[in-house]
Amino acid sequence: QLSGKVAVVTGSTSGIGQGIAQALASAGADVMLNGFGDKSEIEAMLEHLREAYGTRVGYSAADMTKPAEITAMIEAATHELGRVDILVNNAGIQHTSPLETFPPEQWDAIIAINLSSAFHTTRAALPQMRERNWGRIINIASAHGLVGSAQKSAYVAAKHGIVGLTKVTGLETAESGVTCNAICPGWVLTPLVKKQIEARAQREGKSIEDAERDLLREKQPSLQFVTPEQLGGLAVFLCSPAADQMRGQILSMDGGWTAG
Ligand code: NAD
Repeated sequence: QLSGKVAVVTGSTSGIGQGIAQALASAGADVMLNGFGDKSEIEAMLEHLREAYGTRVGYSAADMTKPAEITAMIEAATHELGRVDILVNNAGIQHTSPLETFPPEQWDAIIAINLSSAFHTTRAALPQMRERNWGRIINIASAHGLVGSAQKSAYVAAKHGIVGLTKVTGLETAESGVTCNAICPGWVLTPLVKKQIEARAQREGKSIEDAERDLLREKQPSLQFVTPEQLGGLAVFLCSPAADQMRGQILSMDGGWTAG
C-alpha cells in the first residue's frame, strides 16, 4: 500500500511515534526514525523494522529544539532514503506546574519541541512533496489541542498551536496532492504518561494501578488507554487514497475525552 513511499516520524524511538513508524513500515513505507535513547536499543528497533517488514530504515538523532538539525534531518532522509513523502510530527514532551511557578526554560522547550519543530520540518519537506504532487503531513496534537487542563499551560498552548498550524497547512496545500491533518490522542500509556501516573501515585499515596484508574476516570470515558497501534492505524488510513480529501482536519482518538 505504501511501498515506494518514505516516511519521517519525529520522536519515534518511544511510545506513539514508535507505534506509528511500525504501522507505516508494516504498510510498506521506508521509515526514518528520530528521537533520543539508548544506542543499542535504537539499533535493535531499526533491525526489527528491517527484518519484520523488509523496508529500508534510517535514523536521525536531530534535536527538535534545533532548527538547523531539523532541516539536516529532512536532507538526510532525502539523501539516504531518496525522498520524503510522509511527515509525522510527533516528538513531544510534558511538564506540569502552576503558571506562577512554571519554569520559563520548560515553556521554551515545550513550545520548541511540541510546536515549532513541526513548522521547521514542514517548511523543509513541503517543496519536494509539492514537486511530486503527493504528500502526507500528520501532526500529533492531543485532546489538549482542543480542551485545557490545569498545570499544563505550555503543553496546552503548544497543542492548540499545532491544531492551528494543521489548518493553515491544510489550506495552503488544498489544491495539491499534499494533505495535512492532525490526530488528537487521549491518554496513551507511554513513558510520557507513566511519569504523570507515578507522580500522582506518590502525591496521593496510592498504588500505580489506582492512580492509573483515577487518571482515566477523570478524563477518558472509555476508561481504557488508547494504544500506539490504534493511532498507527489512523495514520496509515490518512496516507491512503480514501483520505485524499481530508484536509486540515483535527481527528480525535481519545476514548470519548472531548465528546462531553
Ligand atoms: P514518549 O515520551 O514515549 O516519546 C516521545 C518521543 O519524542 C521520544 O522518542 C523522545 O526521544 C522524543 N523526543 C523528546 N524530545 C525530543 C527532542 N528534543 N528531539 C527529538 N526527539 C525528542 O511520548 P509519547 O506519549 O509517545 O508522545 C508522543 C507525542 O504524542 C507527543 O507529541 C505527545 O504530546 C503526544 N500525545 C501523547 C499522549 C499520551 O497520552 N501519551 C496523548 C496525547 C498526545
